[in-house]
Amino acid sequence: MQSSTGFICDESYFWHQTGNGALMLSASGWIQEDIHAENPETKRRIKNLLDRSHFIKELEQIEPRYATRQEVETNHTADYVEKVKTLSKSGGGDAGEHAIVGPGSYEIALLSAGGVLTAVDSVMNDKVSNAYALTRPPGHHAEQDGGMGFCLFNNVAIAAKYAWSKYGLKRIVILDWDVHHGNGTESAFYSDSEVLFISVHQENIFPKNRGAITYTGKGDGLGYNVNIELPAGTGNEGYNYTFDDVIEPIINQYQPELILISAGQDPSRFDPLGRMLVTAEGFHQMASRVKTLAERHCNGRLIACHEGGYSTSYVPFCTLKILEAFSGKQSNVEDPFDLGHHEGPIYQNQIEAINKVKEIQNQYWSFP
Ligand SMILES: [Zn+2]
Repeated sequence: MQSSTGFICDESYFWHQTGNGALMLSASGWIQEDIHAENPETKRRIKNLLDRSHFIKELEQIEPRYATRQEVETNHTADYVEKVKTLSKSGGGDAGEHAIVGPGSYEIALLSAGGVLTAVDSVMNDKVSNAYALTRPPGHHAEQDGGMGFCLFNNVAIAAKYAWSKYGLKRIVILDWDVHHGNGTESAFYSDSEVLFISVHQENIFPKNRGAITYTGKGDGLGYNVNIELPAGTGNEGYNYTFDDVIEPIINQYQPELILISAGQDPSRFDPLGRMLVTAEGFHQMASRVKTLAERHCNGRLIACHEGGYSTSYVPFCTLKILEAFSGKQSNVEDPFDLGHHEGPIYQNQIEAINKVKEIQNQYWSFP
């Protein structure tokens, strides 16, 4: 089905400076410093591909606004927000664990969170059916009192809290398919039933000791936190199996009023920071499946917030395919890395991992 799809981006998102490093750390003097893994290029090149293919004309471009400090503080402590502001003003530093703040990053991070809030307003007011916020810095690792993993403010968590307060929503799904666990988002809603958080990620990758399947929420939030740990090497078939067996049955029972995706394209098969095998077509399949769920339960209301994804060559193709699925339109771009043979078959260890999630979750949800 064709839909109007909003696209939120701003040149200044590409100006957030993360400096040099070997992937994400300093190389300690042993090898020449390289560009930091979380650099503007993966994201800028998405925009470039949309322009070059003219697919941008199929999208409604929406200008982001800045989040207010009050909006950011619905999810972060005032002390932490002040720390980011101070570092940003004084030339930069680390606001936590690998949470690099460059000169001026505070304002850019406010615009990144605000971009997602703009998406919420656009979708809730039916200006567009769904939206993709290509914002930076990313958000899902950011905890309430500290940054982590390249994330300063937790954009998707701030957006869910905004949708609660402004639109009175009571059932929001946040589906996080970034290859790393969405620890900051999990923390934000761990005791809450009004957000169902589902994180599908590679097991034992980042952050350490987070994302275990036994973490299912507490208090009112018990049963509303779903961690799906998949073994390294999971590809399109394994992710589709996860949707069939776990994600779709749970979302169908929850009946959300809005679906947010933490869209990290780092389960892609070329990612330097992940070990999964999802192709651009695989991202198209996942996005189509979430779109169908949104149409079934919440009038198509669906927003993707860009998170990770570190292959400068492949992330643009994966993201374009997501936008094709959201809009129901097709570009004239073929995945140049599609080798034309069957890719990412499912293996027994992946099926076993998914079955373990069902064993834990079947005290809260029923499975076919
Ligand atoms: Zn990631």
